[in-house]
Amino acid sequence: MPGFELWGAEERKEVNDVLETGILMRYGFDAQRQGNWKAKELEAEICNTFGAKHAQLVSSGTAALTTAMAALGIGAGDEVIMPAFTFVASFEAVLSVGAIPVLVDVDETLTLNPAAVKAAISPNTKCIMPVHMCGSMADMDALQAICKEHGLLLLEDACQSIGASYKGKKLGTIGDAGTFSFDFVKTITCGEGGVVMTNNEDTYIKCDGYQDHGHDHLGVDRGADLHPFVGYNFRISELHAAVGLAQIRKLDQFLEIQKKNHAHLKSILEQVPEITFRVVPDPAGDSCTFISWFLPSAEITQAVVEELKAQGILGGNFYWYNNNWHYIRKWDHLRNPDFLNKQPEAIVAQLKKYTVDAFPASDAVMGRCISTAISLLWTEEQVQEKGEKIVTAVKKVLAS
Ligand SMILES: *Cc1c(COP(=O)(O)O)cnc(C)c1O
Repeated sequence: MPGFELWGAEERKEVNDVLETGILMRYGFDAQRQGNWKAKELEAEICNTFGAKHAQLVSSGTAALTTAMAALGIGAGDEVIMPAFTFVASFEAVLSVGAIPVLVDVDETLTLNPAAVKAAISPNTKCIMPVHMCGSMADMDALQAICKEHGLLLLEDACQSIGASYKGKKLGTIGDAGTFSFDFVKTITCGEGGVVMTNNEDTYIKCDGYQDHGHDHLGVDRGADLHPFVGYNFRISELHAAVGLAQIRKLDQFLEIQKKNHAHLKSILEQVPEITFRVVPDPAGDSCTFISWFLPSAEITQAVVEELKAQGILGGNFYWYNNNWHYIRKWDHLRNPDFLNKQPEAIVAQLKKYTVDAFPASDAVMGRCISTAISLLWTEEQVQEKGEKIVTAVKKVLAS
């Protein structure tokens, strides 16, 4: 799953190029940097690898979502429809631009249920934000059709699905904009980092300015830049971009290993008829960072989780239903809502609607789901052993 597992000489070499000159910033210092433009180079590689017209690196995946939303004109009072199962960063970014997160149910794709999205559309809806969770994708045809019908923006949070695709197009390049995270546990890492991808030049130019204090980057030096609009500082450093440059060149290798280990593990789990698998709208496009599987009921699933824990093999198996970071049930801080500073009333009113039991349809999916992270380091024997141990635990619970 995470690129940090295969850290090596390639990453050290790229970082050392930057350390040799000491120019840690991505802009300016042209003479001193001796031809090193790691951030620029990584943006070009991202465009090539994923088939996006434009790529804007930033300091995190969260910053990428914020930057994309600002560039798309999403702001105060606008509603963004997003799933109740995602990483907390997705709603943090919506809140950061003053917009209102409208959470809706997921289905067995573990991403947005298109019918739930339709039902949530209001006159204030501005954007639909699918989150391609755990390496695989939302039903993009259905979501694109809804966006078209209602004149809505489509922003893909593809932070967890680097290298996955849908009907031949890479996730993150299908909507009006899409984002990756390069934080430490993502498919490829910069240590910390993120990117906005878009095929729209105007959106790209806005991202470019927004992440660097509104600079237009047209001046001969930074001091001569104009500021056509207000921005922030979400810049990536050359050191982080250097790590990403080595990592993106290994992406094909990472994906190949993930797919191999995923297929092997699936072939073992499949031997239990009670185990079913996540619905994947385009199976060929799954990046296979996780294998997500279902048991017949929430009770059985919780018992299996306990059994895996008792055997000391729960690590790497995620039961999101009870997990503090990824599912609405445990987002007490959002539901209360607990903020450090005053929030717009429309946001507070919306968040208070999210009681623990507000999403029974999602509960029915997430309560039965376990996601097993696929490691890049497993040997064939280890996959076999892991699979067999899980199967033994499941059979024991089913028999009792
Ligand atoms: C990791 C992640 C993010 C945010 O990324 P950071 O780089 O950690 O800020 C956003 N959305 C999802 C779904 C993620 O998994």
